[in-house]
Amino acid sequence: MLNIGCHLSVSRGYAALAGEAIYTGSSCFQFFTRNPRGGGAKPIDEADIAEFLDIAGREGLNSFLAHAPYTINPCAAKPETLQFARQTMADDLTRMEWLPGNYYNFHPGSHVGQGIERGIQLIAETLDLTMFPEQRTTVLLETMAGKGSEVGSKFEELREIIDRTRLSDKLGVCLDTCHVYDAGYDIVGDLDGVLTEFDKRIGLDRLKCIHLNDSKNPYSSHKDRHEVIGGGSLGLEAIGRIINHPALRRLPFYLETPNELEGYKKEIALLRGLYLE
Ligand code: FE
Ligand code: FE
Ligand code: ZN
Repeated sequence: MLNIGCHLSVSRGYAALAGEAIYTGSSCFQFFTRNPRGGGAKPIDEADIAEFLDIAGREGLNSFLAHAPYTINPCAAKPETLQFARQTMADDLTRMEWLPGNYYNFHPGSHVGQGIERGIQLIAETLDLTMFPEQRTTVLLETMAGKGSEVGSKFEELREIIDRTRLSDKLGVCLDTCHVYDAGYDIVGDLDGVLTEFDKRIGLDRLKCIHLNDSKNPYSSHKDRHEVIGGGSLGLEAIGRIINHPALRRLPFYLETPNELEGYKKEIALLRGLYLE
């Protein structure tokens, strides 16, 4: 069965989130750990978490993917900004222990003129300062579109971050289909070639999750604007090949398309229909 879900809001608590996941036909899902524009996270409500885990176990929900706020910059130049990113990630990873064995995804960051080399070094240091040996969460570096000074739009850069991080056995990659296409990896015309390149540079064993999005912009545009499934430059046919590819078909897929719950429900049904059992 296709393991697919969408991005949901945790603002009404985890048990409510499970209800939304089930409503949309999700078997996995992504959520923000806190307000995506940053700021404090709600204290953990143990009863709510227990209820959530109970529903998830009964309904077969799995592969919970927490997304770090996209405003933090783990390779910022300003010390206060860097410190804020590190505090946020450390707090998130501690909280993720309430949901053991799941995933925490973050954007590697923007080097803001410091250069790619310095950016990579700062990201590895951020991971060394926030990950801990006992953690049961796998931390995922997201492949980026390469807008501005974003680090992580090339597979080599992600490899370098992994190599420089101490607890690298707890690191993986989340491949965003909109981002890699915008970054110049032709997953429409040559999916096999891109996956061979991924395997050579990073290793397919590191690939843990897929963000499944269409793109509003053409190939190699370095833009990062998500489109609904089938409505953008990737198209439904290419997306069908992605979910069915032998190297990808067993991974969890997460939609981050511009949709409300109804739209997600329709896309999930559409994609389940395209999946070859
Ligand atoms: Fe993201
Ligand atoms: Fe993404
Ligand atoms: Zn994006």
